[in-house]
Amino acid sequence: MNREGRIIEDKVSRVKREWEEYARKGNWTVKGYEIVKAPAGADRLEDSKEEEYMVIYRPHGVLYNHSYGLVSKFFKGLIDGKLLGTRCPLCKTVYCPPRMHCWNPACRVADADWTDLPLKGRVHTFSVMLFSADAFLEMLPFVLAYVQIEGADTALPIQVVTNPTDVFVGQKLEIRFREERKGDLMDIYAVPVPGQAVPKRSCLHMNPEYVKDLERNLEYTYSFLEKRFGIKKEEVKKRWETA
Ligand SMILES: [Zn+2]
Repeated sequence: MNREGRIIEDKVSRVKREWEEYARKGNWTVKGYEIVKAPAGADRLEDSKEEEYMVIYRPHGVLYNHSYGLVSKFFKGLIDGKLLGTRCPLCKTVYCPPRMHCWNPACRVADADWTDLPLKGRVHTFSVMLFSADAFLEMLPFVLAYVQIEGADTALPIQVVTNPTDVFVGQKLEIRFREERKGDLMDIYAVPVPGQAVPKRSCLHMNPEYVKDLERNLEYTYSFLEKRFGIKKEEVKKRWETA
């Protein structure tokens, strides 16, 4: 193999050409501004008043190429609709997300065996995202869980499409692939296996105040979605029902 690497499959050149141009265009130059009204001056949204803020439009682009290295097979697997993990040949620990080098220092291995994993898992822990980075705003509010795939000893972050007040540690999940896949963890999502009752002592339901708190905070996210994208609360709830 030469220094540049041998290209076996190229799904990126066209995109690269488009974006290289865009990345250089922005150059942090101010292109314009907007005046927006938003709340100010209080700890609680309901106690705030509206102020006018100036928002500067200063576009810039970043072209970020990176390699998945020896775990590329996992991400290519996602495109092909397969969930793969690695197994340490010595201690037999199964990793998903994959690791090529076992983290047990006693093993001292330089390689791992690839293994197919079932599309089943359990919630190990979770967060309810009420706000997010720009790229995920329209998916709000969503549950991001660390999911232990059946047969794996580690957990990976997956979006769980469900009502955030219903999620609990230990919940059984079915892993699904999105129709359009790019070789990224967002290619998969999870839905709860139907028919599971929320345990009374779950971290959210052990105190009725916690659920009320979450519901109150969700209302802020719904109002943000409607103002920013015109997405209605009913549409959000429909996502969970039709997943
Ligand atoms: Zn090992």
